[in-house]
Amino acid sequence: MLGAKPRYAHHAITTAGVAHDMDLQFTSEEEAFRLKVRSWLDENMPTSGLSDTREGRDDKTWLARAKAWQRRLYEAGYVALAWPKEYGGQAMDPVRQSIVNDEMVRAKAPYNVGASGLGMLGPTLISWGSEEQKQRYLPKILTAEEIWCQGYSEPGAGSDLASLKTRAEIVGDEFVVNGQKVWTSGAQYADMMFCLVRTDPEAPKHRGISYVLIDMHTPGITVRPLVQMTGDRGFNEVFFDNVRVPRKNLVAKLNEGWIVANATLFHERNMLGSASGSEQRFNRLLALAKSITRGGRPLTEDPVFRQRLVELEIRVEAIRFHALRQLTDQIRGKNPGVEAMINKLVGTELNHDLATAAMEAMGDYSMLARDDEAALDHAYWPYEWMFSLGLVIGGGTSHIQKNIIAERGLKMPKSR
Ligand SMILES: Cc1cc2nc3c(=O)[nH]c(=O)nc-3n(C[C@H](O)[C@H](O)[C@H](O)COP(=O)(O)OP(=O)(O)OC[C@H]3O[C@@H](n4cnc5c(N)ncnc54)[C@H](O)[C@@H]3O)c2cc1C
Repeated sequence: MLGAKPRYAHHAITTAGVAHDMDLQFTSEEEAFRLKVRSWLDENMPTSGLSDTREGRDDKTWLARAKAWQRRLYEAGYVALAWPKEYGGQAMDPVRQSIVNDEMVRAKAPYNVGASGLGMLGPTLISWGSEEQKQRYLPKILTAEEIWCQGYSEPGAGSDLASLKTRAEIVGDEFVVNGQKVWTSGAQYADMMFCLVRTDPEAPKHRGISYVLIDMHTPGITVRPLVQMTGDRGFNEVFFDNVRVPRKNLVAKLNEGWIVANATLFHERNMLGSASGSEQRFNRLLALAKSITRGGRPLTEDPVFRQRLVELEIRVEAIRFHALRQLTDQIRGKNPGVEAMINKLVGTELNHDLATAAMEAMGDYSMLARDDEAALDHAYWPYEWMFSLGLVIGGGTSHIQKNIIAERGLKMPKSR
């Protein structure tokens, strides 16, 4: 989608048995807006100190810079453009936000440090939160004053999330929380957690779960970082030992958190599959292949690797059209369904396959890490290859997305 000229004004495609129309034409106002964003980014992008890897994310200097960058973007009008005005948004249609996202990827702009709040909790609170919760939390998500993390997974509850055991008992005006979360991204610097807790252990497992907002500075919370194969400490174990949470931090009704949890998961899956990210990675892979010589000629002229590149490009194009279709649906007010799962499944697997192709193209050079002068393409690919595998799992594995698409999209019988 990124700045490319749309090829058709209107098109119809069929996915999961449903026919869709889509608009592939940006208006002249939208194109003018794109140029405005592009020139703002050219002038305002931080030049150093915010690497595009997740390394050192618990470092205080990095955190302060990352928060300042999101705040600057917000003040320039480029964060959460579609949110309602009363909570700090601009009530614009989603096309503008998608243009900003594309341009940020194109410019290799640093990632928004408050992405979990912006992409997951914010939209959930807009639909499900009380007025008091919206007023209290949404503005600070926009400015990165409060960073959020997601407390869903537990040692015995990942794909089967409804088996979670972290217990919250009501004592007076408070919940008292005991238990453990795991794989909690960003918990080491988060101020708040949106968390799933069991409030009725006697009820069937999908009931009896509540959605609560927990201040990470409350006594009784211990955060232990876990080291990933990238070498980063991106996610954590979080332990709760008699942690007191005010009852007003409950989102929606007691024991009815499962439906709210799914609303957040929907937003997460949409966020994780990014069409413009895939397009950028493909262009980077192409440049790499052009620079590598095999048998006396560039890899792009090797018939076998060329075939592979074409197959990848076809997948990049497919997800680009999928993103345009989703955008059209959003503008027309259609409630998104399995499209978010398709996005997550296809986008994350494609990104990992792009990195795999780059690793194979580099051969022995793919073993060289960031600080090695002989590394190709600034050793971007080995890191990306490891990191992208995590995103195939995080937010629900590919198997789980396929199950949901089969059951809800294709109306196939349940797998179990
Ligand atoms: C980089 C990263 C960041 C993460 N960040 C967070 C976070 O911030 N907060 C959070 O709460 N969680 C986070 N997670 C956890 C993530 O949501 C879980 O890892 C994921 O849901 C899978 O759960 P699991 O690891 O327990 O694997 P399991 O559920 O044990 O799955 C193991 C394997 O079995 C397969 N499988 C399981 N059930 C089925 C089934 N019914 N049908 C077919 N196959 C099945 C899975 O696909 C997988 O291959 C993160 C994970 C990663 C990798």
